[in-house]
Amino acid sequence: EAKRQGGAATVISDPALHLTVQQQFETEAELRAAIEQDAFEPYYQPIVDLETRAVVGFEALVRWCHPRRGVLPPAAFLEVAETSGLIDAIGKQVIEKALATLRTWHEALGRATLTIAVNVSPRQLCAPGFVEWLLAAVTKCGVPPETVKVEITESAVLDQGEKTLAILSRLRGVGLQVMLDDFGTGFSSLSCLYQIPAQAIKIDRSFVAVIDTQRGYDFVRGVVDLAHALGLDVVCEGVETEAQHAQVKALGARWGQGYLYSRPVTSDQALAMLLCGQ
Ligand code: C2E
Ligand code: MG
Ligand code: MG
Ligand code: MG
Repeated sequence: EAKRQGGAATVISDPALHLTVQQQFETEAELRAAIEQDAFEPYYQPIVDLETRAVVGFEALVRWCHPRRGVLPPAAFLEVAETSGLIDAIGKQVIEKALATLRTWHEALGRATLTIAVNVSPRQLCAPGFVEWLLAAVTKCGVPPETVKVEITESAVLDQGEKTLAILSRLRGVGLQVMLDDFGTGFSSLSCLYQIPAQAIKIDRSFVAVIDTQRGYDFVRGVVDLAHALGLDVVCEGVETEAQHAQVKALGARWGQGYLYSRPVTSDQALAMLLCGQ
């Protein structure tokens, strides 16, 4: 592969990237231009109350609105954004837009209870000044802090340890909510669950996908019970079928998210969904 491209490029050793150094540089340059052009937009996927199916909030999921390639999902650029450090700027663009959107939803609904969840990578969370920036953004936007949820994966807590935990405690201290994302996929889920100052966990969709097996069902039940014992709410990710919905509900999980309810949509589509569900 590298040879065919003229020899200068070497192949990055991580096979997950599938990118040559040259491709990585190109993507990085494109990402820089896209940041300048304000080309990153959150899409919004509803989180529903499993009992009533009412939408209680949305998760903001970044999309790159690419001039030639269309709307690109995170899988197309997040690795490069992370390794290059550009995720900091991209994340700020996304969070700013998501907060502004939440404000318009609160106004349209006449009540400020709907929540927005934003994904923050370990790197972003620990970047100098990030917490101050986030708190200022929430204050400036004027939404109640408790309607803003920060989703963080286990790897963050593992990689950065004490520092991450201190930052998360600070966020909670000023009223923001913390959710542990992709629960169960990390190497140290339990110690993470034990330590993290979170209000909720999101059970990864790989477990919801096998909930129709006895073993899968028992596993999810165990996780839900453990979370509840620790006073944590549970979101089940990746609910795609009515059968899965019925099962996660039967297990007592509070919230669900997945294609069964809706794929991630634009802010306009999300608002239409909200007004229609009133
Ligand atoms: P995540 O935070 O775990 O988000 C859930 C992912 O699962 C989303 O993929 C969503 O579209 C997808 N999903 C939701 N329901 C279903 C379902 O029923 N079936 C299946 N197969 N998939 C479902 P997406 O949007 O491609 O995002 C992928 C990941 O990229 C996210 O995983 C998150 O870790 C990361 N990400 C997204 N937006 C941001 C962001 O603004 N900043 C950072 N740092 N990371 C982000
Ligand atoms: Mg998430
Ligand atoms: Mg997740
Ligand atoms: Mg994920």
